[in-house]
Order: sequence, then structure tokens, then C-alpha cells
Amino acid sequence: MIAQQPPAGAALPERVAVLIVGAGFGGLAAAIKLAGSGEQDFLCIDRGAEVGGTWRDNTYPGAACDVPSQLYSFSFALNPDWSRSFSTQPEIQGYLRRVARDSGVLDRFRFGVEFEGASWDADAELWRVETSAGPVTARLLVSAAGALSEPKLPDVAGLAAFEGAVFHSAQWDHGQDLTGKRVAVIGTGASAIQIVPAIAGRVARLDVYQRTAPWVLPRHDRAYRRLEKLAMRRIPGYQRVLRSLVYLAREATVPMFIATPWIGSLVSRSATRNIDRAICDPVLRAKAQPHFALGCKRVLVSSDWYPALARDNVELITEPISHLTPDAIVTADGTARQIDVLIVATGFQATEQPIAERIKGRTGQTLAQAWSERGVQGYKGATVHGFPNLFLVIGPNTGLGHSSMVYMIESQVAYLVDAWRQLRRFRLASVEPTAAAEAAWNADVQRRMRRTVWSTGGCRSWYLDAHGRNVALWPRPTYTFRRLTASFDLDAYASTPSDGAA
Ligand code: NAP
Repeated sequence: MIAQQPPAGAALPERVAVLIVGAGFGGLAAAIKLAGSGEQDFLCIDRGAEVGGTWRDNTYPGAACDVPSQLYSFSFALNPDWSRSFSTQPEIQGYLRRVARDSGVLDRFRFGVEFEGASWDADAELWRVETSAGPVTARLLVSAAGALSEPKLPDVAGLAAFEGAVFHSAQWDHGQDLTGKRVAVIGTGASAIQIVPAIAGRVARLDVYQRTAPWVLPRHDRAYRRLEKLAMRRIPGYQRVLRSLVYLAREATVPMFIATPWIGSLVSRSATRNIDRAICDPVLRAKAQPHFALGCKRVLVSSDWYPALARDNVELITEPISHLTPDAIVTADGTARQIDVLIVATGFQATEQPIAERIKGRTGQTLAQAWSERGVQGYKGATVHGFPNLFLVIGPNTGLGHSSMVYMIESQVAYLVDAWRQLRRFRLASVEPTAAAEAAWNADVQRRMRRTVWSTGGCRSWYLDAHGRNVALWPRPTYTFRRLTASFDLDAYASTPSDGAA
């Protein structure tokens, strides 16, 4: 009998073999693949009310994926029902709900449970985890909390004094009717460029505060025709071939980011034409024109961003924000613009993740402390020296600017499932990457990073930490990452035997 729902109000077990934190794409994949490997003793906790992670939380108007639908699903659960070439948030969330329900693992999920902290107990060789629903111990701790889950607010004077409605893009207040209101959006990143066109038509006026003009390419989104959908459903292999073609097309762009900047300049010429086509006003055109190499920040895709900026009721403001008053934003030139609602689309705490402050490793040091000493880094983006039996999903340097994170997530999950298999097979109590293995991995990653557009492109992005090191992205093709993480390489780890092991 397949468990389609988590048990209502069920208490947490006192101990589990594997505890997964986060029920987004990463946590769900880990649960399904652990179950598939024969491990049933796991638990997945999430502070939200259901699966979905970032796709559950980001419900802002216009929320959609900028990676093609064909790539934005698990390889083990293709979705022939996508309605468009770029899926919207409700469709992706619906897909994740369906996969979770059909996979039979939901009885081991607990929602509304906050991960409060975990410490490695070296004597018992397990993780002691505190949650809002009580303590639990686990031999393996899997952090799949997501890199883009903690909203980052701008450091603007007077924000607390603003008396109108204010909310972050990832915490959209659906109780606020924006119709006829004076609205401001701070930020022009991936979220803002979806929000602005979606609300511009119904607000009285929309002030868009831009610090850095992004590169925005046309989106080429379209609804799938009935015959295409039928083919995806009925013709064996059709959707896999389609998916592979999209994957290869995306992978073909990797050289533009890592080695061949002249390709980026060609693409940026076409991106500039995109601006010129939509915007007639030369002053606005100049404001919308980016001044860094294409690819240095995430390349955005939208076919309605520039037309939205060109609307009469929308103003693109490039003067820096000075402060907020109870009813207005004041820019450095002294201009005050009255507003009713402030939407903060300023991104996430991607490189200083709060969960790192809550995980204490072998020496009693938190992950955040370890990272502040030696920089945010891990071994193969999955494990960290000093933190036995901790596995990260979307750990350091596993992010992508060009393709689907679901591919990287599946690579990381395969690695951790194989690690768990080997732990049991060789009767090991713990595994921890050696300092040398971690250092060598990161030296290689950072050496490769030097030539990339993320380092040389003349921008400041959330990919970089406080020291300017790119700790977010993977600097090679994704199939290389897949190959390097295909199996757990025990020889890069220090391990301890279980009691009674040979
Ligand atoms: P983001 O890309 O980090 O963009 C934040 C925006 O806020 C930037 O324009 C930034 O300007 C601006 N900003 C930050 N602090 C500011 C301040 N104090 N004053 C003025 N402006 C400020 O955040 P996001 O748009 O939420 O996207 C985050 C990530 O989520 C993306 O990179 C992407 O990986 C993911 N995402 C994906 C999709 C998708 O379709 N798959 C959609 C949305 C988001 P600067 O550029 O000057 O820093």
C-alpha cells in the first residue's frame, strides 16, 4: 500500500538511520532514492506545510522556471503533462506533489517541523538533532535545505519605519490587492523580472529600483500543442530524446561561461538588440543596458521585461536608494517617491546559509565557523572535513547558471545513496572527507574558476563570497560532475568501523 500522505500529528521517532532536512527537489529525491536502495529507516522534516521547497514558497505573480520544462523534472519521473516549454510555479509544485504522492515515501515526511540544530556525538557516532517537534538521532544527516531558501533583505535605512505593506518576493503577501496601488520593487534579478511584467498592468504606478542592469535574453516560451503532448505520452522514448536534446543544447553553452568569452560578446549583441526592439526612449535604453560581461551574473530570460519597463506607469530608477520614510523611498538625489506597497526582490542568503550556524561537527565547531575560517567549501559539494556523516545536497560549487539544478541534485543523491550503501556494506560507523582530499578538490575548482566569466566578467554577484571566491557554481560541464560523483570514493575519506565490525 503506497503512503500518499504523511501521518497526521505523528510524533518523531527517537532515532532514524538517515534524517533529511528539507522536502524540496533535493530532499524528495534523497528520500525516493534511499527507499529505492532498500533503506526504509529515514525521515524527512520540513518547516513548510508540504513538499516543494523553493517552488512551494515562491508564489509571486509570474513565478516560472527559466530552465526548459523538459529538463526540470526528475529523470526517474518524467512529466508528459507539462503544458508549456517553460513551466509555471503552480505546475512545478503540482508535479512535485504528484511525485511525492506516487513514490510511496510520504509516510516518512513530517511537515511543520523546524530543524533547530545538530551536533555530532563522537562517542555514539551519530547526529543528535534538535527539532521543533523534539529530538531525534540519526547516523546520517542530509541537509537538503536549499541554497535559496533564506530571504535577504536590503540594508536600507528606514526600512523598519516604512508604514505601508512590505514583503519579500519569496514571501508574497497574497492578502495585498495591488490593483490601483503605488508599488515599488527593489531589485532587478531573476525574481523581479518575472514580477514586474506580471503586476505592471494592474498597479497605478510601479517604481523599479535597479542597482545593476541585468542581461536579459528573449524567453521563447510557448504552449505545447496537443500532438506534442500526445507524442510525449504515447511514443516510447520520445520525451527522453527531447530531454536529451535540450540537455545537450544547454551544455553547449558551457564554453561561453568557462573559457570562450567571445561567444558571450556575440550573445550580448543580440541581447542589446532585445533592448532596442522593446524600448524607444534612449534614456531608458541606456539605463537598461548592462555594463558587465554576459554570463557574469545569471543570464535572465524574459520576453516581457523590457516592454514592461517601457510602460507609461513604470519608472526604472537607477539613482541609489538613500532611505525610506514612513510612506516613500528617497533616492540619493533627494527625490521622494510615495508608495503604498514595497516589494523586496533582493535575493537570498546564498553564501552565508543560516543552517550552517546550526550544525556542529566533530570538534564542536559549527559549519559556519569552519567555513568562515577556510572559506565555504566541501568535497565534491557533498561532504565537509570535520563533519562526519553529513551530506549536503546542493553544497558548495554545485550551482549552475546554464542548466537544470535537478540534474546536479540527482548526481549528489546518487553519491550519498552509494555512501550509505558502502557504510553498511563495510560496517562503517562514520565517514569524513580527509582535509587533503577536500583541499585538493577545492584547489582544482578554484583554479578552474579563474578563467571563467564569473571571475573575469566585471560584476559582483551572489555567486561570490565575502572574499570574492565563487563558492556557488560548478565550473565544468554537468556530465563531468555526474561522472565524478557516480560512486562514493571511500579512499578520500577517513572512516571508523562499527562496533563488532571486522
Ligand atoms: P538575485 O538574483 O540575487 O537578485 C537580487 C536583486 O536585488 C539584484 O538586482 C540586486 O542588485 C538587487 N539588490 C540586492 N540588494 C539590493 C539593495 N540593497 N539595493 C538595491 N538593489 C539590491 O535574487 P532573485 O531575483 O530572487 O534570484 C535569486 C536566484 O534565484 C536566481 O539567481 C536564480 O538562481 C533563482 N531564481 C530562479 C528562477 C527560475 O526561473 N529558475 C526564478 C527566480 C529566481 P545587484 O545585481 O546590484 O546585486
